[in-house]
Amino acid sequence: MRISQILKDNKSGVSFEFFPYKTPKGKEQLRQAVRALKNYNPLYMSMTYGAGGASQEMTKEAVYMFMEETDRVVMPHLTCIGATKSSIDSLLDEYKTKGIENIMALRGDIPRDAPDFDITKGEFVHARDLVSFVKQYGNFSIGVAVYPEGHIESASLEADLDYTRRKIDCGAEFAVTQMFFDNTFYHNFYEKCRGRGINIPIVPGIMPVTDLNKLRQFVSICRTTIPESLIKQVEPFLNKPQEMEKAGLEFTIKQCRGLLANGVKFLHFFTLNKAEVIKKIVEAIR
Ligand code: FAD
Repeated sequence: MRISQILKDNKSGVSFEFFPYKTPKGKEQLRQAVRALKNYNPLYMSMTYGAGGASQEMTKEAVYMFMEETDRVVMPHLTCIGATKSSIDSLLDEYKTKGIENIMALRGDIPRDAPDFDITKGEFVHARDLVSFVKQYGNFSIGVAVYPEGHIESASLEADLDYTRRKIDCGAEFAVTQMFFDNTFYHNFYEKCRGRGINIPIVPGIMPVTDLNKLRQFVSICRTTIPESLIKQVEPFLNKPQEMEKAGLEFTIKQCRGLLANGVKFLHFFTLNKAEVIKKIVEAIR
């Protein structure tokens, strides 16, 4: 089923994002996480797409494993940086044959280990090129990434919003946000999008807080603010991982409740393949 339709048909719901495994142990962990979380009736589950060939193959394998494990809708992510049109074409062909109807269309990050990488030389430059390509291909309901605090490479939120508008105009049917920890960013962004005529669903992406140091690493590459209130809540537990996780999840649960209380219908969780953490949050907000 198309996610655009699922978001129209439902008044509320959650979705879960996973990442592909690299080892047999990781595969088993992912399988267990999918088994545990499918019971929460997610609207859909998605699988990220890694940089580089081997990891990209793993995305496909993991997506097919999802399809064995669950009848929930599964959406592969797809990045276009450095990709050729023919490689994307054959992947879409394969997905179509397997009955996949949704694609999260992304540019991907510029490789950090290749300082001479010239993005403009590729067959795709921006995510919107991929959106147009997938749209032309037909069949797929297309999701895109959006950034409540602006994308890290953009000069300003306003400039980013202009590009976001153009990307969505190419055929995106729903959007998932980058993580944020102050709901004001999401609400302001949502209003600005609506003000610019962006009317597709904009689903908040929720990163559970379990480890402040890891969170600092994540945000160092994505322009997300960690508010003082969050730091105050978890920093006293830097050397006590269990207490840190407890305090962090209290923050996340409050964040989710705040969004729902303000009219948000759907929440998308970056699960990091950790079912237990997600279960605690979903059970607390039900
Ligand atoms: P774009 O929309 O192309 O935007 C990238 C930058 O280019 C922005 O600064 C934008 O303002 C700018 N821009 C756009 N159009 C133009 C233009 N015409 N001229 C000048 N500048 C322009 N990465 C992965 O590798 N795999 C994943 O599975 C993955 N999943 C993600 C899921 C979510 C929910 C999110 C939020 C991000 C995800 N990412 C993933 C990260 C994403 O690939 C990076 O954030 C990447 O840097 C940008 O991707 P994009 O699709 O937003 O690119």
